[in-house]
Amino acid sequence: MNLMGLFRSPQNELEKGGRKQDREETGINNTCPHCGALLPLSEQLENLNVCTACGYHFRMSPRERIAYLADEDTFEELFGELKSRDVLGFPGYDQKLRNAKLASREKEGVVCGTAEICSEKCALFFMDPNFMIGSMGTVVGEKITRLFEYALEHSLPVVGFTVSGGARMQEGILSLMQMAKTSGALRKHSDAGNFYLTVLTDPTTGGVTASFAMDGDVIMSEPGATIGFAGARVIEQTIRKKLPQGFQKAEFLLEHGFIDLIVPRSEQKETIAKLLKLHKRGSVQ
Ligand SMILES: [Zn+2]
Repeated sequence: MNLMGLFRSPQNELEKGGRKQDREETGINNTCPHCGALLPLSEQLENLNVCTACGYHFRMSPRERIAYLADEDTFEELFGELKSRDVLGFPGYDQKLRNAKLASREKEGVVCGTAEICSEKCALFFMDPNFMIGSMGTVVGEKITRLFEYALEHSLPVVGFTVSGGARMQEGILSLMQMAKTSGALRKHSDAGNFYLTVLTDPTTGGVTASFAMDGDVIMSEPGATIGFAGARVIEQTIRKKLPQGFQKAEFLLEHGFIDLIVPRSEQKETIAKLLKLHKRGSVQ
């Protein structure tokens, strides 16, 4: 058997087996919704899903966030087995849940667990923009409540990434009561002297804003995130006044004292680790 040339580079496309060139070579692009720049997908992913032209922060799944935040192999998922049921028999909800699972590849709209960030151990939750825009139903509320209870039991700080269109209307009042339930659990966690940091991402609205998203000891946000309770049009129609431009953007909220800091994605790991160190229990002598 002649092995000569077995490892040489192919001379032409046919010799390559007619394979299509990979993404980078063909330049598959994504268009930035903020500045319209055509971004090679590989470049966008390498830049933590942030537009290299204008700094627009694309939405991110929980697993993508875990990859850039948690120290390697330290994330351990908690309560991953919980999933929603259509308890009220709401028309179309079953199908919506199936679609959400396919779109997000998650069982529910939040991923919880523990991890180390620059060697600082903490409990974490990440809401999922691909699962019904992180809407809060009974399971989302239950998982977050259990996470605070777990963190209280183990004296761990909690870091929570929020993204949400609000309460899950298909679960009616059961979804609304998650606001009180999560708030109660985080208050107990806080009363015991534990630290809670929220990171608001685009969009954080409705019942999530009105409960655990704005209850952090420190409230951080990603640049340009929309943060609010009701939509701008609803507010304008109710109070019959024109609202200022961009009044539900993170930058406006920072200027008016509703949030504490805005941190771009590339600096989040380091900033979160600093805050965890600073608020470590027993760190003040
Ligand atoms: Zn852009």
